[in-house]
Amino acid sequence: MVQNQCNILANQILVNQFTIGSAQNNLNVEIDQLANIWEGRILVIDSKYKIIKDTYTIDQDNYMLYDEVIRIMHGEKDKNIRMVSDYAEIIMPIINAEKVANGVIIATVSLKDIEDTNNYIANQANVLTVLFSLLAILAAFIICKISVHDFKQLNIQIMQLNEGHLESLNVRSRYNEIKQLTDSFNVLLEKMQMLEDSRQEFVSNVSHELKTPITSMKVLADSLLMQEEVPNEMYREFMTDMVEEIDRESKIINDLLTLVKMDKKVAEMNVKPVNINALLELLLKRIKPLAAKRNIEVVFESFREVIGEVDEVKISLALSNLIENAVKYNNDGGNVHVSLNADHKFFYIKIQDNGVGIPEECQAQVFERFYRVDKARSRETGGTGLGLAITRNAILMHKGAIKLYSELGVGTTFTVRIPLKYVS
Ligand code: ADP
Repeated sequence: MVQNQCNILANQILVNQFTIGSAQNNLNVEIDQLANIWEGRILVIDSKYKIIKDTYTIDQDNYMLYDEVIRIMHGEKDKNIRMVSDYAEIIMPIINAEKVANGVIIATVSLKDIEDTNNYIANQANVLTVLFSLLAILAAFIICKISVHDFKQLNIQIMQLNEGHLESLNVRSRYNEIKQLTDSFNVLLEKMQMLEDSRQEFVSNVSHELKTPITSMKVLADSLLMQEEVPNEMYREFMTDMVEEIDRESKIINDLLTLVKMDKKVAEMNVKPVNINALLELLLKRIKPLAAKRNIEVVFESFREVIGEVDEVKISLALSNLIENAVKYNNDGGNVHVSLNADHKFFYIKIQDNGVGIPEECQAQVFERFYRVDKARSRETGGTGLGLAITRNAILMHKGAIKLYSELGVGTTFTVRIPLKYVS
């Protein structure tokens, strides 16, 4: 800035042809004012080294033979700036139109002011830093208070939930994270509630299913007891019915035990390579006499030899349930078609019948425990409603998949896909 003002001053001196003039002259006054502002001294030297202006007037009209001035005048140097502890000395040439120095300005500027200003700015910055730090601490404290308050609310509600006074969480918070946490918690609660509902439904179904044969047996036994002289044939008939009910009860208990064992998951898997072709042939051989009684034709089609890493007992159970159902829910004279195929990753089994079919609205539920489309028919055929639940569990334990395609009155197809290599 000082250099710029020196340049402007040099121009004015040139314009005035080195005539600084009397104390009232504009240029003279200006130089004095400038020296005042800088709290320093300005010397103007002409081409003959004469000091034509000294704001201190001490050296006015004397000659300046300062080494640096001579060098600048000779064009050996374009300017000289020297810093001494609390002032700066700037020597600048006054250059004319021919680009030759024909005069020099020496300006001494006090740095005290600048230093004071720097100190003032530094102090102000320190005050601002402290102020902003305090503000930041205050803001952090308020934010912490608010979020801690929200977390406390969350905790209180979780405790109320635990004690059974609340059904779901409802924390009003301005923080998305807390809102998300509350929502996730509520989703989890909903899932737990669904699990609890299904557990209760299962328990009530089990009780109902186990009670039915017992009630029948009680009725049969009571009616025998109530009669004095029971004819032998009637006695035998009632006893046969009672044995049937006992068989049914024990089948339900067996199926339930199988399901419970499967719920224990992977630890119970006994996996080894099994020839799936041979396994299916064996299962079909077992069902054929039952099918033959109702004139149902059972056909097996194999596209290749398949060796799969499976738990033989569980897979046999799953597949025999499907094959038995295809016969059980078939019409007399109907047919069952079982096929086996594989690619490099999976083997596929298709069990197709042209039986009674499953109405579309029931298809999603048939894999549920105790679900039966036609209770009477299922009971007649000795069904417990647990067969497909067992099948699906066994297939899922092999990381497989099962799908159902069915049309009422046309027939049903179950497709099963199981990895050739067992992955735990
Ligand atoms: P169930 O012991 O009653 O056979 P499942 O779990 O094996 O029980 O099957 C559930 C219900 O699905 C059956 O009661 C029956 O209504 C229906 N279902 C299963 N397989 C077939 C099929 N191949 N054709 C028609 N309905 C079927």
